[in-house]
Amino acid sequence: MVARLPALAEIAAKVPMEKLSWPVLDSLSIECWIRRDDLLPAWCQGNKFYKLYYNICSAPKAARWVSFGGAFSNHLYALALAGKELGRKTVGIVRGERPAHLSPTLCDAEAAGMELIFMSREKYRALTARNGFTSDWSRIKSEVAHYLGRDDDWIVPEGGANRAGLEGCKHLGLDIGQRGRFTDVLLAVGTGTTLAGVAQGLASVDGPGMSRAAERYPTGHVPQVTGVSVLGALKSGRSTLKEEINLMLNGQDRVNWRLLEGVSPGGYGRSTPELEAFMIEFKRDTGVQLDQVYTAKLFWVIQQQAKAGLWPAGSKLLAIHTGGLQGLRGLHFKTARK
Ligand SMILES: *Cc1c(COP(=O)(O)O)cnc(C)c1O
Repeated sequence: MVARLPALAEIAAKVPMEKLSWPVLDSLSIECWIRRDDLLPAWCQGNKFYKLYYNICSAPKAARWVSFGGAFSNHLYALALAGKELGRKTVGIVRGERPAHLSPTLCDAEAAGMELIFMSREKYRALTARNGFTSDWSRIKSEVAHYLGRDDDWIVPEGGANRAGLEGCKHLGLDIGQRGRFTDVLLAVGTGTTLAGVAQGLASVDGPGMSRAAERYPTGHVPQVTGVSVLGALKSGRSTLKEEINLMLNGQDRVNWRLLEGVSPGGYGRSTPELEAFMIEFKRDTGVQLDQVYTAKLFWVIQQQAKAGLWPAGSKLLAIHTGGLQGLRGLHFKTARK
């Protein structure tokens, strides 16, 4: 165990869940609740900490924690801050050449003690093309160890997308299942690891200290999990994301989930003027700040789909605020530098 690391269930149980007063959904008689994982202390904030938790626990003796990301990566930021808090060296392998001006995200990561290694886009793609669920992850790991010239590091896949990451995200689902009765649980999806963990946690009927699903959901209704893909339009009309999530879930049939794809504005990491206007309006209406890469797209799609009648009146939705607010600084960084 890593010193000073509280149990993940305890951290999850402290996260506030609030009923939003959101005029658009109120007028449709749909309750929308929000789980505020964005309000945890910076070093354990948002979904990235759940994904890192068991990765970190699996590496009590590793000299350094190493992972990958882009210039505005929530994942590298989370790893750097967790490393600082828990007294461990961290290394961030960053896509692309070192720029003249580091992004605010990478400045913070470096200030937290993370060593940054910049890697050409081609090499980066070759080393991180697959997430940690695929069988050639062990090959990728050894290639990274070879690249770094040492074999005593713990290497976490980009975005924390591996079995340990999924196990951590189960605590989100378990905690939600224990604390509230919701018809639907909604979240933004990048790799799908968080969705898979949340869905498994909600449906979980075993494990020490866990109440049986039958007791937890007396009406027999396990909440439906809906993921909103932030990856933009579907390429070639085929969903590889869906296939990847199925792979993560090993075809477990109790899990009740679906994915909404191609309905959020902008491509991955891109915002649009309408999305930015929505963020301002949402903040004004509800008091909650969203980020442009993930959570604004989630709530934008919730608003669209609620108006289109996806949920009947009387539904009780819970949307997870998965954090990512540090990435807000990316919104005007690129244009300001030009
Ligand atoms: C990474 C991230 C997600 C997506 O998580 P996945 O497990 O990759 O689907 C959602 N919201 C925020 C704020 C994130 O940083």
